[in-house]
Amino acid sequence: MRDTPDKLNPDWPALLKRITLELGALGADEKAWLRERLFAIAATQVELDELFHKADGLDACAGCDGACCGCGRHHVTLTNLLAYLLADETPPTPDFSRTCPYLGERGCLLTVDRRPYNCITFFCETLEDQLGADECERLRSLDRRLRNEYLRVAARYPAASLRGLWIALQRFGDGALLQSTGKDMIE
Ligand code: SF4
Ligand code: SF4
Repeated sequence: MRDTPDKLNPDWPALLKRITLELGALGADEKAWLRERLFAIAATQVELDELFHKADGLDACAGCDGACCGCGRHHVTLTNLLAYLLADETPPTPDFSRTCPYLGERGCLLTVDRRPYNCITFFCETLEDQLGADECERLRSLDRRLRNEYLRVAARYPAASLRGLWIALQRFGDGALLQSTGKDMIE
């Protein structure tokens, strides 16, 4: 029997429709602000992915069968889904029976530029050992820059908290997820 939808196992089509409608109702200035943040996030994530490749991440992760994705259930944030929706694309459908709802048969279903902050910045010891001192420093710097952008989105739209969307849904219930606070927290 299928589980009854709840906040940790939400009715995905209904949630997607809800976020899409709220996003469509945002004013032009809010959308422009959000687009700028999402653009910066995507660009930084692509840079982090370059470091991941330098660290031979593809081979290493295949070798340990993507072990850390077993702890990824709460990593996706509203920000990651907004990146799809603002580009008029449909985010991949989550499967809540998996350890992470975005873990597909052949790895992560989310594109590198729209992958959660916790995932794209995680370089385990095996990966870090492959990087030189300068590259490790670059990793820290990109991480700080990226975190700051995610926190800016979360300050403006608290449902985009880095604690993850499924937890935010518990807090916000059926209330608005994209009610702007007007804040722009810049470090
Ligand atoms: S980041 Fe490290 S722990 Fe995670 S899947 Fe890759 S090699 Fe394994
Ligand atoms: S979102 Fe993707 S990278 Fe992150 S834990 Fe889930 S499957 Fe792994």
